[in-house]
Amino acid sequence: MFQLAQNRRPRMVPTPTLVRTREALARTLQSWRLAGQSHALVPTMGALHEGHLELVRLARSHASRVVVSIFVNPSQFAPSEDLTRYPRDEAGDLVKLASAGCDLVWAPDPREMYPAGFATEIIPKGAALGLEADFRPQFFAGVATVCTKLFAQVTPRVAIFGEKDFQQLCVVRQVVRDLDMPLTVIGAPTVREADGLAMSSRNRYLTAEQRPIAPRLHGELASLAKRIEHGDEIVAACRAASDTLNARGFRVEYVAARDSETLMPIKHLDTRPARVLAAAWLGATRLIDNLAVGPHSATRPPSARGNAAWPGPSSPMARRCSSHSF
Ligand code: AMP
Repeated sequence: MFQLAQNRRPRMVPTPTLVRTREALARTLQSWRLAGQSHALVPTMGALHEGHLELVRLARSHASRVVVSIFVNPSQFAPSEDLTRYPRDEAGDLVKLASAGCDLVWAPDPREMYPAGFATEIIPKGAALGLEADFRPQFFAGVATVCTKLFAQVTPRVAIFGEKDFQQLCVVRQVVRDLDMPLTVIGAPTVREADGLAMSSRNRYLTAEQRPIAPRLHGELASLAKRIEHGDEIVAACRAASDTLNARGFRVEYVAARDSETLMPIKHLDTRPARVLAAAWLGATRLIDNLAVGPHSATRPPSARGNAAWPGPSSPMARRCSSHSF
């Protein structure tokens, strides 16, 4: 009886502290340092969903405190892109973050991040060339610059990024390595809706008619990965996947197979980890997705949470969606 009564009591989850200035951020971080506590960072643009919350839970397992940044970074949007209509829901985000175990939300105003006179840009090459960069030429300079600033402001021992944005994860790893930044970048598996669609803040742009079509991007990548594993010629297989998606109502920007570390094109599967990646418009919504391919893809499912239809770790789908850490 006593046990039951205890279980019914609502669990108190403290709301994370919200800070908007570098001074307030530095004060909190200093108090943690003095208490001997390490901290992890999860950079986001807000409008949070279960995919973001999984990053927070993973961060919790790597440090005693978790900082989540919420900053819709203007410098990674081209003038033609969706900066002004990008979804924002700070109040809702705080409630979700409390339940996921976030301690501090760093939500600076753009003028706090880029004060008058700001004139420096990090321009990554290597993994930042091709794929997304062919269609969003300004994107990775914006990402690399804001991440460099976030790492300098927050000084985390660990930063968590999602494999959902696989090229971004590779670029951030490269920037951290090339500039000798004292932190570890950890990639987290993509969290999907029950029908396979990768969760994204931009999914809310999809119309009721487009929503059932959207998971076909993941489905086509899964078939492509299988065809490549069975030995199909890679360029032809990618072209066929692109044609299929275009025929189903997408407007494909790229479908590609790449080395998972360098993101260089691959001619055939060998012992190195590989990835298939795609970007395609469905109406006014740009969707991106990627899957591990080859022997390195058989590890573990992305997450039990948010994958209600997850078919089990030994299924073909599990192998497609699993993560590879390098
Ligand atoms: P965003 O707020 O969309 O810029 O994403 C912030 C972080 O969350 C990035 O590291 C993303 O890769 C990650 N993320 C976004 N969607 C997902 C998802 N469905 N599963 C896992 N991580 C995700």
